[in-house]
Amino acid sequence: MEFSSKPSEIFTKMTPEQKRLLYLIGLYTEINGQVGKQWMKDLSLKAVLIKGVREKVFDWDYAPASVMYMGTRKIINVTQEGQNDLNHLRIFGLISRLRLGTIRHFFFNAYGLTPIGINVFRLIQKEDREPIDILAHCSKCGKLFEITSEQKSVYMICSACNQKVDTEVSDIESVQYMCVPKWLKVKLESQWKPVLRKGGD
Ligand SMILES: [Zn+2]
Repeated sequence: MEFSSKPSEIFTKMTPEQKRLLYLIGLYTEINGQVGKQWMKDLSLKAVLIKGVREKVFDWDYAPASVMYMGTRKIINVTQEGQNDLNHLRIFGLISRLRLGTIRHFFFNAYGLTPIGINVFRLIQKEDREPIDILAHCSKCGKLFEITSEQKSVYMICSACNQKVDTEVSDIESVQYMCVPKWLKVKLESQWKPVLRKGGD
């Protein structure tokens, strides 16, 4: 399938979630006011998306999933709908993915804006910028939060104001509570079938 490479045409096809996601990635690729100059780590993005769902900035669901986390496997919250929108941004040609290795020999993905992505980023309106700006900036000084991964969780940090916000990406218990009804429904409809026992006991 051929996709238009005109930023304005792509823009009209995008959902609010996709615009907000692109805007968020754009913010974290910015150096000295220029977007698309660096890459955003996959884990950082995953964590901020969870924070965004909790703050009702993104209308997605999420559920616990096993992912690579600082070189080991860990159960964290992942929004599959968010990952799907991320894929859509790649299909639209707005973001690209880079696979990076560390000196400790584990690999992770990072995301950056393509030249078209930078143009579409500039088209995003206040209604979709504002919720992300509030999410990603320190409420005291207005600086973009740094995102740091620790063993326990991923945090959004403003070192100038001594602010440390937990993205709650590792907060599994309350999530299960939130997601059980939907998850159960899906399981019942698609996978759970009565198990027939041999011998009829
Ligand atoms: Zn601050």
